[in-house]
Amino acid sequence: MSKWVAGIDIGGTNTVVGLVNHKGLIAYRDKLKTEDYATPEELVKAICLSIKKGELQLEVRVSAIGVGAPSGNFYHGTIDHAPNLKWKGVIPLASLFVKASGIKTVVTNDANAAAMGEMKYGAAKHMRDFLYITLGTGVGSGIVANGQLIYGHLGFAGELGHVIIEKDGRICGCGRQGCVEAYCSAPAIVFTYHEISKTKQEITATEICELAKNGDKYAIETFNKTGDWLGFALANSVAHTGPEAIILFGGPTAAGNLLIDPTQNSLEKNLLYVYRNKVKILRSSLPESDSAILGAASLV
Ligand SMILES: [Zn+2]
Repeated sequence: MSKWVAGIDIGGTNTVVGLVNHKGLIAYRDKLKTEDYATPEELVKAICLSIKKGELQLEVRVSAIGVGAPSGNFYHGTIDHAPNLKWKGVIPLASLFVKASGIKTVVTNDANAAAMGEMKYGAAKHMRDFLYITLGTGVGSGIVANGQLIYGHLGFAGELGHVIIEKDGRICGCGRQGCVEAYCSAPAIVFTYHEISKTKQEITATEICELAKNGDKYAIETFNKTGDWLGFALANSVAHTGPEAIILFGGPTAAGNLLIDPTQNSLEKNLLYVYRNKVKILRSSLPESDSAILGAASLV
């Protein structure tokens, strides 16, 4: 008999729900708008309803829930002061799930979950040392070293998005200045585009991606600068764990080589000699949201 678990990815914009069997097959998928829910309790209730729907559809029972969430704390099952969620403070996420569903729940940082999914089923299969970077509403990361995800003393290791790359730089969602996230997230890409094009038009990172592919010089320059910042940050990260590869995931990576090339160039320019030409930058090989669902599911 197949064992089923739910893999949940809570993002700043969307929450995705998946029912996954032990072979990594996602047989049920659902998507909720995170911002539609006024409280974490309401979102959890909606997720549990969705899980129920999936159980009925597949005629299975879910035995555990794995959740990836921004600032998810693996040790405490909480979300702690997430910059990209409207709910502040410490949210006891795992216990909210248990209260609403009666099902055992494990929580971790969304990027950590996605990194695990990539390691089990994606571009990082068989890798023991890699960095996983998620570019989206924010910039998240998961660090795998010696075959293990690094959680750190408090459960918050791998916050590459909040490494400072410009002293007194742009204001970040975390309240500090100059973080990678303030330069390389999707909203930051829009900000950079406005700076370069000297316009204020309403535009999304996805649209800037399209513009760049069509040869728009401001959009191309935007991705050049974004890659330059990202590669700089990654060069420093490489010095910490000596990864085999860096895997990029998320909406802005749809720019493909328009983002990867400047990132790789900047990485090489800033790397310590021993690492040069030895660290690959790859795009995630899993479809958007699958790595997070699979990773969250693999927690349990
Ligand atoms: Zn920050």
